[in-house]
Amino acid sequence: MKDVRQHIINLRNELREHNYNYYVLDNPTITDYEFDLKLKELQELEEQHPEFYDANSPTQRVGGEITKNFETVKHEHRMYSLDNSYSKEDLLDWEKRIKKMVDGDVFYTCELKYDGASISLTYENGQLVRAVTRGDGFQGDDVTANVKTIKSVPLQLKGDYPPKFDIRGEIVLPFDGFHKMNEERLANGEEPYRNPRNTASGSLKLQDSAEVAKRPLECLLYNLTGNNLGISSQFESLEKARSWGFKVPDAAKLAKSVDEVLEFVNYWDTKRHELPYETDGVVIKVNNLQQQEELGYTAKAPRWAMAYKFKAEQVSTVLNEITYQVGRTGAITPVANLEPVELAGTTVKRASIHNADQIEKLDIRERDTVFVEKGGEIIPKIIGVDLSERPIDSVPTQYITHCPECESELVRTEGDAKHYCPNYNGCKPQIIGRIQHYISRKAMDIEGLGGETVALLVNEGLISNYSDLYELTKEQVIPLERMAEKSADNLINGIEASKNIPFERVLYAIGIRYVGETVAKKLAKHYKSIDNLMNASQEDLENVDEIGVKIAESVKLFFASEENIEIINRLKQFGVQLEISSEELEGQTEILKGQSIVVSGVFEHVSRNELKKLIEDNGGKVSSSISSKTSFVVAGDKMGPSKKDKAEALGISLISEVEFLQKISKTDIFND
Ligand code: AMP
Ligand code: ZN
Repeated sequence: MKDVRQHIINLRNELREHNYNYYVLDNPTITDYEFDLKLKELQELEEQHPEFYDANSPTQRVGGEITKNFETVKHEHRMYSLDNSYSKEDLLDWEKRIKKMVDGDVFYTCELKYDGASISLTYENGQLVRAVTRGDGFQGDDVTANVKTIKSVPLQLKGDYPPKFDIRGEIVLPFDGFHKMNEERLANGEEPYRNPRNTASGSLKLQDSAEVAKRPLECLLYNLTGNNLGISSQFESLEKARSWGFKVPDAAKLAKSVDEVLEFVNYWDTKRHELPYETDGVVIKVNNLQQQEELGYTAKAPRWAMAYKFKAEQVSTVLNEITYQVGRTGAITPVANLEPVELAGTTVKRASIHNADQIEKLDIRERDTVFVEKGGEIIPKIIGVDLSERPIDSVPTQYITHCPECESELVRTEGDAKHYCPNYNGCKPQIIGRIQHYISRKAMDIEGLGGETVALLVNEGLISNYSDLYELTKEQVIPLERMAEKSADNLINGIEASKNIPFERVLYAIGIRYVGETVAKKLAKHYKSIDNLMNASQEDLENVDEIGVKIAESVKLFFASEENIEIINRLKQFGVQLEISSEELEGQTEILKGQSIVVSGVFEHVSRNELKKLIEDNGGKVSSSISSKTSFVVAGDKMGPSKKDKAEALGISLISEVEFLQKISKTDIFND
């Protein structure tokens, strides 16, 4: 018995190594046939001895697990997007901003930007425990069963890996495999897939993991995330990850200057066409992790990284018609309906034209031949008109004057690029759009209710604003198209559960123009309840940190509407959170009110992020660089000398972490 167990373990180790040689190193040392024989032997032994089951055995790569609903998982560390740059000037600007915020030389790791689906893998004690898609960056779908079938994803690590960490990368479908899949589809009389990237991300969401196993996907890794990883630079982390068994392309290079970065970009701009998979640019990262931490993040992206996009591909085609869409805020967006054309691997039929100014500036007309470009966005854009192809009887475009949905006369206010339909309460797309926004993930996140169902509910006359949701009954929704009893239950339960969503998200959900997530948070924190916010004067609103005239006006306008007040009152009656809960209030003070505080260095009792949160919870404002407006600096270990000099020159005081915690009476932290 003991022998069998040992034999199974040996086979697993052996197969793991061959797998690694083949899929990660591209350097097999045995034939496929020999490999299959060993795999088969292991499969049989595991079948006879289920007591030795191992979820991470090489036999598990063939898949078979069916996932009906992918579970939503919150990312322990958020998955950010990247800022884009397009020129040397952009990079120099970026470098200038960085150098203001950190001390010492700045070096950069340059990597290729792989074009696929991003993924976050969690490893514990060397075993893959979870794979989650990026989702909205805060939370994604658990696609572990599918990712396990990707042979270049190690199920068991080797070497001196840390006990727990996340590693991020991109799942790509190399051109070769993509073409093979399409040949097969064509042979079966099926539509070919349009491009490798969408096929890769679509694959992750297949229900049958055995299907995923058949697809030649690869996983390329580029970022380690976790605590106490004992790594001090990005370049080192790539090398480490490689040594633990991950596939980390070796194109990465360390650059000492923007000029060296550009050398890398120029080299790969042509050379990339020889790569087996698609890339759409270069990602440049500040190499030193301590400097990365000092730089931190904006609301969307790390300040320490920058994407440099390769020049987008362009084509020309005929613009058949300009149509107009109405958004949830009533904003009108002109859309170009094009003669279908192939562009960067996809068929393009529509392009966005931002607004009337854009049409005028480029003098875009129907029946024109236009140049279309595809950048990072899903919808391509028109960048110019080929005047030599313009028909003789062409006439300039007349922008619409009335709403295409409700025929109200459009308005355009001073300083606003867009036209708006002012029929707030009577224009269908606006009504539907507002409710769709209300239920969306970042807002009330109502499970069991999707955008299409909202449209259906509105069209059936069952709801006309988001407060009506709370009066819906199961009996009302069951007769709706495609609504099973179970789904009706889910819908009603989802709506009920939204009563627990905290005030700041409700404030975002109700859809006041210009009140996005961040502004909603600020307002919630400052006013603490919708009643206080409603009663605030324009002047009072403008005095809130980072709230400008435009936002203040928009808030006043929203609450000036009787309909809105009534809807809010109804939400209140139904028990939706319209004030900060007492738990949230706890620990919040005004001790640091009006103070602008800079945090620098490494701390002992709290992390840098906790420190920032403490500053905000106590009414202060975190600022990233020292200036004459800085009230004081919380200085940790390893604070850079140039920051110190600057503070000294401006006469700004430095206080220690402990002094700071005492200042806000948060001394309980020392006891844990
Ligand atoms: P974007 O989606 O244009 O904001 O670009 C950000 C995405 O680029 C990230 O979410 C990653 O999935 C992807 N990416 C591809 N290659 C890299 C790389 N080497 N480093 C960081 N991100 C990368
Ligand atoms: Zn309208």
